[in-house]
Amino acid sequence: MKKGDLIIGLFAIIIMAILGISYKIYINSLGTDRYVSIYVDGFVREKIKLTNSNEEYYTVLTENGKFIEIVYGRLVDTEYDYNVIFIHNGGVEVLAADCENQDDVRQGFVKMPGIAIICVPHHLKVVIEGGEPENDAISR
Ligand SMILES: [Zn+2]
Repeated sequence: MKKGDLIIGLFAIIIMAILGISYKIYINSLGTDRYVSIYVDGFVREKIKLTNSNEEYYTVLTENGKFIEIVYGRLVDTEYDYNVIFIHNGGVEVLAADCENQDDVRQGFVKMPGIAIICVPHHLKVVIEGGEPENDAISR
């Protein structure tokens, strides 16, 4: 083997290692994407990508636990039942609701994936999902 071949060989190995590491970082970054999922009556009605810079209000309108619609923004003057969801600082909270128990409002700010905010009277569940690395699913 000539000295030149050896250098090219080493160079190729280094390039492949860099590509491999970049790919892994890329895959991991995909896997750590988080979403705020809003469920009403067991169905996902809205899925919002969560970043640290989100500062958004969504008002969920229901009637007897049946889904009506999700309005972007803060809406409390409505004939329907409502839950105002506020996404900020990489987490989510129910800021206001017209349910009797106010359990969802009292639960406060949630940042952890998998911890659900639930409003039983309105059949509402708000939960942060994602954060599982994608390559984990493949290697399992
Ligand atoms: Zn409630």
